[in-house]
Amino acid sequence: MHPTSPSSSLALLILVLSLISCGQANTQKANESQKPNILLILADDLGYNDLGFQGSEELKTPHLDQLATNGVVFERAYVTASVCSPSRAGLLTGRYQQFFGHEANIPPPDLGMDTTQLTIADKLREAGYKTGINGKWHLGSSYDYQPNSRGFDHFWGFLGGHRDYFARNYPEGHEKAIYTNRSYTPFTGEYLTDTQADSAIAFIQQAGKDPFFLFLSLAAPHAPLQALERDMALFPNSERPEYAAMVYALDRAVGKVIDHLKAQDKFENTLIVFLSDNGGSPVNDSNNKPLKGFKGNKFEGGLHVPFLIHWPAGLEGGRRFTGLTSSLDLFPTFLSAAGLSQPTDLSLDGADLLPYLRAQKQNEPHQQLYFRKEIAASIIDGYWKLIRLDNYGYVLYDLQKDPYERVDLKEQHPEQFTLMKEELKRWEAKTQVPWWNEKEVWQKVTYDIHEDLMNNRSVRRLQPE
Ligand code: CA
Repeated sequence: MHPTSPSSSLALLILVLSLISCGQANTQKANESQKPNILLILADDLGYNDLGFQGSEELKTPHLDQLATNGVVFERAYVTASVCSPSRAGLLTGRYQQFFGHEANIPPPDLGMDTTQLTIADKLREAGYKTGINGKWHLGSSYDYQPNSRGFDHFWGFLGGHRDYFARNYPEGHEKAIYTNRSYTPFTGEYLTDTQADSAIAFIQQAGKDPFFLFLSLAAPHAPLQALERDMALFPNSERPEYAAMVYALDRAVGKVIDHLKAQDKFENTLIVFLSDNGGSPVNDSNNKPLKGFKGNKFEGGLHVPFLIHWPAGLEGGRRFTGLTSSLDLFPTFLSAAGLSQPTDLSLDGADLLPYLRAQKQNEPHQQLYFRKEIAASIIDGYWKLIRLDNYGYVLYDLQKDPYERVDLKEQHPEQFTLMKEELKRWEAKTQVPWWNEKEVWQKVTYDIHEDLMNNRSVRRLQPE
């Protein structure tokens, strides 16, 4: 047969086409397998100063310090709220939570995060990721608001805002009870933070060869102050041994997960993010120094958080990033790291951080960031920061010259003051009336705290009388 006869040409063509299509399938498979794993580690109410890499000489956080040394540490990273639930709503949806009424803390039993909002877990699951959350949820307890209804294949944890680290006696249906997906799972571990690490590792094992997205939502170091005796013994001279031990255990849990990733040869291509959901609380012995303020208010100690990204296979480490960054940026950044295009069906408020971290973009991820919970609102514009307390007034700070918010400049800079008031109002025009509010007694406490801090006074009370 002549080598170029029609039948042999056809056979050759089929062979070539099938090789090409096989090649495409293989390449696609290779790309799939190269998708990074994503590990989002969120601490709860951790103080700005309470990590070795943030300057603490008292607390011991060797595993997180190592991530900081080899990763990128963010110097100007903010969460979208200074309390738990709204901060988590912003982070997981990539949208300012005020745009869907999730402004106040603690959804009532019959409510939760707007079910029309997609989460980063929804999007990553669509793209073939195994998605899991381990630990605290705090975005609604009833069926449609639970993690398994919000993009997570797997849930191990509790639906409320905090729980005892030891207790085993929460009955089925209690928001502090432990659930595996939708099934009540009596807590049998010794100490919650350690059990979280074990459960996180079990999820990673179950994911097998598939890329995973794991939201390790640590309960620690949110109150109650409870620690293992043997951990407290490591801090014999501390004035806050329970808190120090809780943070030490938190770091140990992170270390355990990291060791597992290393043993599975997954560490290099796992994008790890670590941050706190809001600033340290005055009731858990945390330390936000040198920042002013704390959990629940619009000063830096409430909103400006420790934040790092570690991803050896995708990002050069060992450096610091000073651009204005938000927890809103994690949604588009995770999609980008996974090689996915930015969704056109969602109006995300964050920026993909990767081009900034790879020096492909020179400006900053944000010019402005906005904050509001009921009576107190704030805007950051570059280094300017305005805080408004309803029925009281404003303060204007220059965070570059005055990062600890001592000197109110609104009278010296009337034009900047006017501009920022207007810009904040423009943003507020897009917000919804909150779906729920905090109790009035708490609103009064929040008002007093803001008034005291605006006047550089000691805070007169932290709780309702
Ligand atoms: Ca919190």
